[in-house]
Amino acid sequence: MDHAHSPSTHRRDRAIRAAVAQGLLADDQQPLVGLLDVAAVRESAAALRTAFDEVTADGQEVLHSFAVKAASLVPVLRLLSECGIGAEVASPGELALARAAGVPAAHTVLDSPAKTTAELSEALALGVALNADNPQELSRLDTLLAGTGGADGAAGTPGTPGPGAPVTPAAGIRVGLRVNPQLGGGTIDAMSTATATSKFGVALGDEGARAWVVQAYRDRPWLTRLHCHVGSQGMALDLMAAGVRATYELAEEINAAVGRQQVTTLDIGGGLPVNFASDETTPAFADYARLLARTVPGLFDGRYGLVTEFGRSLLAKAGTVLARVEYAKTAGGRPIAVTHAGAQIAVRTVFAPESWPLRVHAYDSGGRPKTTAPVAQDIAGPCCFAGDLVARDRKLPLLAAGDHAALLDTGAYYFSNPFGYNSLPRPGVYGYTEAEGTDDPIRFHPVRDPQTLDDIVTESGAAHRDTLV
Ligand SMILES: *Cc1c(COP(=O)(O)O)cnc(C)c1O
Repeated sequence: MDHAHSPSTHRRDRAIRAAVAQGLLADDQQPLVGLLDVAAVRESAAALRTAFDEVTADGQEVLHSFAVKAASLVPVLRLLSECGIGAEVASPGELALARAAGVPAAHTVLDSPAKTTAELSEALALGVALNADNPQELSRLDTLLAGTGGADGAAGTPGTPGPGAPVTPAAGIRVGLRVNPQLGGGTIDAMSTATATSKFGVALGDEGARAWVVQAYRDRPWLTRLHCHVGSQGMALDLMAAGVRATYELAEEINAAVGRQQVTTLDIGGGLPVNFASDETTPAFADYARLLARTVPGLFDGRYGLVTEFGRSLLAKAGTVLARVEYAKTAGGRPIAVTHAGAQIAVRTVFAPESWPLRVHAYDSGGRPKTTAPVAQDIAGPCCFAGDLVARDRKLPLLAAGDHAALLDTGAYYFSNPFGYNSLPRPGVYGYTEAEGTDDPIRFHPVRDPQTLDDIVTESGAAHRDTLV
């Protein structure tokens, strides 16, 4: 059910109206923009922190890190950092974005199944926490840490920088191992990271794996963390909690085997699903935190530090993609709105529509919600392939040329993750704010400038024009 009068819904409608009125999509501008509700981002960050505050022990350390891939935009990372949320990065690019945003190394976690030796060295030198994915990566870390004393706070022997050479780790390195409890998948295969044959982490149920993990900790006093992330959209909450429980139980087993609390921190991943069907935020962070408290009470007795890595659930509901309808036509009796939002901005929705349906709302040429009777129609994008549709046979007020189509709940993995097709430009992204309790207009703050034609030409090898002739 839509909460038509919720503050964020009201703000979204006001922002769409203002975006049109202020000419963000005017003819000489790009016909497509990403909009981000700054207040909604702050509320979401606060809801996450409160949810865990309510279940953790006094003084228990919790680092909430935002999965950067969900909204890889420097001002967004900066805003989240100001709200007390760090960064989970999974590539040199994402680490560079987090650093550019001013996210402290102490609030940054590096995960990735394919870290190079150079990335590992950099993370250790910066003091960024990292989670190793597999035995080969642990061996690389052995080499990098050889002769440094390794463990927390130990003074390192200065090493020669460069791949493979021992590095001088920042004081108090924080290294964990990612495990896969192999609990099964959710409703979206591509998002399920805890299947028997997932590419992520050490598969715990495989023959000999559990004993190997315990021995790996025995052999490496600097291995003090344990990490799991069992999946994203489409995972049942029970399964996610079971994954956290399996990780906790393994930490207890390691600590008992080693005879001290070597594992001090549990990184429980992200993955809370988002409701793309209405404006309601379900499940809420508080629901998940309470479920964890019931399923894994030991997690919250204060013995372990915690790390979380939520992405989609922090940002999705704060974002809207707004596109102008360029033409409206019919084919085979079906109305088709040809808009500027297609695969270049809604990759998953276009290529896997069953798994990633989006709500589309209709606005008129002035940016006001259309209220005419719903008519089944296709909402198409600008890309030159037939499947470039963000909604098929969808009932909504009939869109006309000059109207606007809004793709809702697109604050994560949409405008920040464009797809370079047909040399369509990456659209501009704007944060919006309003002065509380006044009739002041909505204010837009540039988050990412729209890509220009010059940018596209440069990026497409213009500097090498003559190299092939
Ligand atoms: C993608 C990812 C996340 C975030 O997942 P969401 O579904 O966006 O919350 C967290 N941790 C890891 C390791 C990931 O790969």
